[in-house]
Amino acid sequence: MDYEKLGLRVGFEIHQELDTHKLFCSCPSTTKKEFKFEIKRRLRPTQSELGEIDRAALAEALKGKTFRYQITDNTCLVEMDCEPPHSLNEEALEIALQISLMLNAKPVDEIHVMRKIVIDGSNTTGFQRTALVAMNGRVQVEGLDFRIPTICLEEDAARKVDEKENEVIYRLDRLGIPLIEVATGPDFKSPEEAARAAFYLGALFRMTGRVKRGIGSIRQDINISIRDGARQEIKGVQQLELIPIVIEREVQRQLSLLQIRDELRRRGAKVGASVDATNIFRGTASKVLRKVLQRKGKIVALALHGFGGLLGREVQPGRRLGTELADHAKSVGLGGLLHSDELPGYGVSKEEVEKVRRKLSLGAEDAFVLLAGDEGKVRKAVEAVAERAKKTIEGIPEETRRALPDGNTEYMRPLPGAGRMYPETDIPPIPVTPDLLKKIELAERPEERVRRLQQEYGLNKDTAWQLAISDQLHLFEKLCKLAEPRLVASTLLETMVSLRRDGLDVSRIDEKVLTDLFSSLHEGKIAKEVIPEILRLACRGLTVEQAIKELGLKPLTEEEVRKIVIQAIKERENLIKERGMNAMKPLMGVVMRIVRGKVDGSIVARILREELQKFISE
Ligand SMILES: [Zn+2]
Repeated sequence: MDYEKLGLRVGFEIHQELDTHKLFCSCPSTTKKEFKFEIKRRLRPTQSELGEIDRAALAEALKGKTFRYQITDNTCLVEMDCEPPHSLNEEALEIALQISLMLNAKPVDEIHVMRKIVIDGSNTTGFQRTALVAMNGRVQVEGLDFRIPTICLEEDAARKVDEKENEVIYRLDRLGIPLIEVATGPDFKSPEEAARAAFYLGALFRMTGRVKRGIGSIRQDINISIRDGARQEIKGVQQLELIPIVIEREVQRQLSLLQIRDELRRRGAKVGASVDATNIFRGTASKVLRKVLQRKGKIVALALHGFGGLLGREVQPGRRLGTELADHAKSVGLGGLLHSDELPGYGVSKEEVEKVRRKLSLGAEDAFVLLAGDEGKVRKAVEAVAERAKKTIEGIPEETRRALPDGNTEYMRPLPGAGRMYPETDIPPIPVTPDLLKKIELAERPEERVRRLQQEYGLNKDTAWQLAISDQLHLFEKLCKLAEPRLVASTLLETMVSLRRDGLDVSRIDEKVLTDLFSSLHEGKIAKEVIPEILRLACRGLTVEQAIKELGLKPLTEEEVRKIVIQAIKERENLIKERGMNAMKPLMGVVMRIVRGKVDGSIVARILREELQKFISE
């Protein structure tokens, strides 16, 4: 796809959990498998203090859900909103300032904690606390050049553990964990460029040694637009590899929706009336609909004039225009919908389809959707789906969408309007003094570390990058005292990957195994050629010593090696007469075949050279 021609613009917000206690209390920032008890809350859409009801807040409130919060033993009254927040975690602020300075951003003079309305229940207070830390940063590295308009310090939301029809269950362990939020400008013009920038920022965070690692500790929200399309905010991309896919598929979705729009306009499409179709389905074979009828629910059919054949059109792999409409039925609590492009089907008969079409007076190019469930919800769903269908004729609505594991996205809520922040009155402003800034020590930037690793250890750039961002750098530097850096690097990176690919339990290869391994190598007990074999056995639980024994690697003494070398020389007298010292290389091969794994190659080479010189001079 020609992204430049499409006018693709991408920016993102990257959220990274900091490795310190919670932002507004001293609870540890850990997650828990167990909870102690639960509390129930119902959140109401509050008139924001700026006077306007938040568009996003309303969409959530429509769902009329209750929220259950699981209390873990690492939470206190602050997470439960039974006690005001304590003062802001100073260490978290220092980390945020450190990262800000590393990104060439200018810290603000005073930190003002603000409240940002969230009404999906993920915060017990109904808002998330956030504070602007620095502005106007810029990154120019490795061919990338992008702006960082804002850097904020925020509290993480509660963790959703389950969602039922009218209830969402959250666990409070994650609520309040400090996050740094780095927002880039809309400066990326291709999916690949955005992915590289996110990778760089992730690497830079790690350089501080003060951020959390592992799944869920870093999350991206991606803003995407194309020239004729609409801005979308895609929430919760957890894996870097997914970034380019999410962007590609969003572009694909917008292009498909634009084609559909044009077709709808050509046909003079419009959203029609809805009718109660419950009686048509009294004797239906459809399991879904029968279940609704058993619960005294309603089935409503909504006419979509001119939509025939387009509801079934794919907008992303496996997702159709019908799926887009179904998302809106789901957003008000319905299970989904059935549309005429997929009917007859799902137990709905041809006769039933005909009856619905007749009741709605539909023509050949017209379509309909069926919405089934309890009456109140169906009414809301008809409204929501009709609204979305209308927008399909107009173009593409701006939305907040959720990233799905395959890189597709689904509707979450409208893009929030402006004015959803107001001051947190419980926390006084914190001045960012010159003294505080003086205390902040910058960490090595990723590109600096890579350069250092290349220079100090003679690594190539790829390897240096891999090591720079791995959590094994410290171990690498330690092991380099025992062995050649490139060998240590290839063992930590390539050998481990290939063992993992073979399905072996590499978690057993810990620091002790690796230290023992390279010590044995250093002491000449083993040769480097047997490293993979020893590690293979270590994955099965053997110690390095046991593995050496198991492999029958009784190390050879120098004397034994010398005997083997002399023997080899004698057997190849003609070769040596012919080539002199140049016979060294073939002889080395011969000897190594005998002694491989039992003595280091460099020792063999030394002895061979000595003996060869002696033989020639005699
Ligand atoms: Zn707490």
